[in-house]
Amino acid sequence: AGYVVGLKLGDFSHSAVIVDFAGMQIAELDCPSAARKMEADALIDEAEALWRAILDKSAVLPKQVAAVGLGLAGMVDHDAGTVPWSPLLRERGVDLRALASARLGVPVHIDNDANMLTLAELWFGAGRGKSAFAVVTIEYGVGMGLVLDNRLYRGALGLGMELGHTKVQLDGALCRCGNRGCLEAYVADYALVREARVALDMPPDKAGHVGALLETLYDQAKAGNEQARTIFRRAGRYLSLGLSNVVHLFDPELIILSGERMRYDYLYAEDVLAEMKSLTLDNGRVAPQIDIHVWGGYVWARGGAALALSAVTDTMFGEA
Ligand code: BGC
Ligand code: ZN
Repeated sequence: AGYVVGLKLGDFSHSAVIVDFAGMQIAELDCPSAARKMEADALIDEAEALWRAILDKSAVLPKQVAAVGLGLAGMVDHDAGTVPWSPLLRERGVDLRALASARLGVPVHIDNDANMLTLAELWFGAGRGKSAFAVVTIEYGVGMGLVLDNRLYRGALGLGMELGHTKVQLDGALCRCGNRGCLEAYVADYALVREARVALDMPPDKAGHVGALLETLYDQAKAGNEQARTIFRRAGRYLSLGLSNVVHLFDPELIILSGERMRYDYLYAEDVLAEMKSLTLDNGRVAPQIDIHVWGGYVWARGGAALALSAVTDTMFGEA
């Protein structure tokens, strides 16, 4: 029997899955990541450790794996196999596909993390049978993937669908990409933590404990702390703005809101949807369906498995 492996390298955690050729998941795992921004070599070390761990867990041998799909945040040129920019990498233009394939000893295919999550929805999730849908991910960063005419739309060079870096404010808040006024700088986890630090005197996120800070902020919001609630609401308003832009640009039939943060934003989802509606032209017919998916981190990696499976079937049957 043959298998494929999906790997997702994240800001604070990594995940892996192994599936067979029928798409059946054999094993999955999540683990914390060592650092946020590293040299390419160190990142490949982490990918290799993840690869070994998922093989161990599933008792599958490396030679039984036909391909690996690897995803990470940033501009990823899927076709060239390079990474023009990633918040996880110190260097630019890393030839990640070649480095990872050499290290793991199997063909590795790379993609943007949100694209991979979109593939998971297209192959195994709510996107099955949908010809135009978007997946918007909200976590440490803000990402997006888009399916048009039943296919993942990647753009020319990997810059496509960087919803998080669309500008919503001139001279605005500083984003992790180095620019200002990006949507992400108002919506992402680090933006919330930045606000919380100012308004609620919370410690900075340097220690890498954004998750814990967010949890505290959420508890305060639930307990009725108005400042904490305002922080979530403000981020929600910017998210509505981003979503309405997505509708105007692509007219998707479905938008899936995903990523760890939806766990917290659930409380405010109705506000987000109402505001999004008020910002969007009314076509007089149905509004796009909005689904909220609060899934475990390994779902991203499942998209990596889909990526690997599509590469394997392309080789077997020729690209359509
Ligand atoms: C990156 C995207 C990524 C998103 C979610 C953003 O900062 O630019 O490429 O998809 O974070 O990880
Ligand atoms: Zn940015």
